[in-house]
Amino acid sequence: MKIITVEEHFADQRIMDANAKYPKTNSTLPPNFQKMYHSMRFTGEKLMDIDGARIDFMNEQKVDVQVLSYTGPVSDRVPAAEAVEICRQANDILYGVVQKHPDRFAAFATLPMANPKEAAKELERCVKDYGFVGALIGGTWQGKFYDDPTFFPIFEKAAELDVPISWHPEFPADVIQNYYYLSNSYPDLVGAEFATAGFGWHLDVGLHMARMVLSGIFDKLPNLKFISGHWGETIPAMLDRMDQIMRPQTTGLKKKISDYYHENVYFTPSGILSKDQFEYIVKVFGADHVIWALDYPYISFEKCSTDFLLESNLSDEKKELIAHGNAERILHLK
Ligand code: CA
Repeated sequence: MKIITVEEHFADQRIMDANAKYPKTNSTLPPNFQKMYHSMRFTGEKLMDIDGARIDFMNEQKVDVQVLSYTGPVSDRVPAAEAVEICRQANDILYGVVQKHPDRFAAFATLPMANPKEAAKELERCVKDYGFVGALIGGTWQGKFYDDPTFFPIFEKAAELDVPISWHPEFPADVIQNYYYLSNSYPDLVGAEFATAGFGWHLDVGLHMARMVLSGIFDKLPNLKFISGHWGETIPAMLDRMDQIMRPQTTGLKKKISDYYHENVYFTPSGILSKDQFEYIVKVFGADHVIWALDYPYISFEKCSTDFLLESNLSDEKKELIAHGNAERILHLK
């Protein structure tokens, strides 16, 4: 069975160097944070590697195609003027990678969110000139969430081009990390994990997507599609309650909040191979709204992760949709 995975990360030293010139100002990471990354087996080399460990991993895990993305927004610290150029360079580099192995890779663009009009143009350039299949975004721009009307041109362009926006976690704001997640009752490393990959940044991006729904983005752009990793970033469990309290009479939306998740959102595991979560999402949203993703290189698997899907109780028809059919349809992959 053909396997396409859609949350698979990449980095390039030139882009990391360009970014490093701009110190992160909206987040002070706990000093133990690097240890946490180490515990996740993070290595820059694995992110940058294409022909060695990455292709080996894909072959071992029976992955035919990885949809590559930069591991975070590449320009989140960069002033608007420079962000446009850095993103162009980053997308040019990524295009070079895809060109080298067009049968094994596709790509999501990285966008200069600091300059929404230019970001929309960059998305168009990447899709039309390079054949990119969408964009991956995350975080905020100087404390602004992307439901702010300033960012509308980006989503409008994605809908026009009929490519999805994939939402990726980023560090929650410093004030959020400190208030909710750090504590004198457990070590800072635990707090750092709790604030980020252990929970906090999932809630953060889940909330961000819920804000997008509440902004009426899908009433304005009914064709717009979002991809939500980590089985929906905590939101699926709350949808019934959200529908119960935030009804169209007050939201002013055309539909219930959950309706937009059923119609406009696609879910991926991002490497969380939990049988119960998988069955829940397939049951609630349907096999036609699940796309496979392994979050390379942050997660490693002792056995072939593809077997998790192939050995599930789903029909072959549903497995085909999740393994490649939905990705081919939504991302227009051949
Ligand atoms: Ca990821």
